[in-house]
Amino acid sequence: MYACDKKTIIRAGWLIDGAGGPVRRHGCFRIQEGRIAELDASWPAAGSGMDFTDCTILPGLVDAHVHLSMSGTTDPETRQWQLDADYAGMAPVISGHIRDLLAHGVVAVRDGGDHHGHVHRYRLDHGDACPLAVRTAGRAWHRKGRYGRLIGRFPAEGQSLGEAVSAGTDAIDHLKIVNSGLNSLTGFGKETAPQFGAEELAAAVRAASARGWPVMVHANGREPVRMAVEAGCRSIEHGFFMGEDNLKRMADRGTFWVPTAGTMTAYAATLPGGGAESDGARRNAEAQLEQLARARELGVRVALGTDAGSMGVFHGAGVIEEMRLLMSAGYSITEAIRCAATNGAELLNLPEAGPLKAGRSATFAAVDGPPSDLPESLGRVRCVCINGRFLADIGRTSKPLPP
Ligand SMILES: [Zn+2]
Repeated sequence: MYACDKKTIIRAGWLIDGAGGPVRRHGCFRIQEGRIAELDASWPAAGSGMDFTDCTILPGLVDAHVHLSMSGTTDPETRQWQLDADYAGMAPVISGHIRDLLAHGVVAVRDGGDHHGHVHRYRLDHGDACPLAVRTAGRAWHRKGRYGRLIGRFPAEGQSLGEAVSAGTDAIDHLKIVNSGLNSLTGFGKETAPQFGAEELAAAVRAASARGWPVMVHANGREPVRMAVEAGCRSIEHGFFMGEDNLKRMADRGTFWVPTAGTMTAYAATLPGGGAESDGARRNAEAQLEQLARARELGVRVALGTDAGSMGVFHGAGVIEEMRLLMSAGYSITEAIRCAATNGAELLNLPEAGPLKAGRSATFAAVDGPPSDLPESLGRVRCVCINGRFLADIGRTSKPLPP
């Protein structure tokens, strides 16, 4: 990584602040000691400052739902190998996913769990040396015999979920609970029963809170989502077919929603065309976009999350599709970036990401071309800067940029 000079002026062709402000043409800001000292700085004399006049600068993005231990590959043998692999086998794969994320302007991720806890171990091993901020759940919790084995484990015989949470020894960043099944591809809107009782779920959230862990809950359908929101979870993951009442409930309580709509468009693209499952996935995606449009009207705090590692959802590239889907649901590009940057940073409680504002960390990406090229131009990231330091080894930033 290369540090900026102590003081550096950045000249952007276009600037999106990630706070929902309008696109600034010829945006200019000054970095000092890793922070944005001044956002609307005056345009310097020609030749000074760092020149991104053919780029759009946006805040570093947050993918609020990934599985770093899985690739988006659709090859069944590779997927099975990744599920069974030991830590030594998976560590380089995880490093590759991190490079892919950074190359798409993602500076932080929240991991939703893996069966062996490899991602958590990776985070402990790499610590501050990892340029990407990785927040880990370790292994998720599900009920024995229900969906969730691929990403977690279940409480011991005779142990409640809350007791299991209290007894956990891993220094994780957040807790992940699975409270429903998967989205059905053949029974449109078919709801599965909640995995845990309301009291058990609430006790688990309290136990997590006592340890300083916010709780992310995998939940599809009205009842599993309602219970999770009322139990006080921080975020609902997926939330397919949760219904209007839950959206209102979440808006009232400030619960985050991570809709992962791209999982369904990926299934629709991957499964045999014209088949019932491919068609079901497409309809599920459409239903999710209708919920997203309503969430936007109601002011639900939507954070962008891809579920990268799910079949056909690739780390980094998945952000482009998820942003495209937000825009299909009626979000403008500046609103979609706010979901990914500001809402994501709030959800992860991450001061080093978030909107571009005076006093905040200088964490941003420069992408080729005007904002009208977004979100596709996230595949053409010119450089990424985290806390005022430019990453040296992503995309085209193989050399330090000229001052
Ligand atoms: Zn997931």
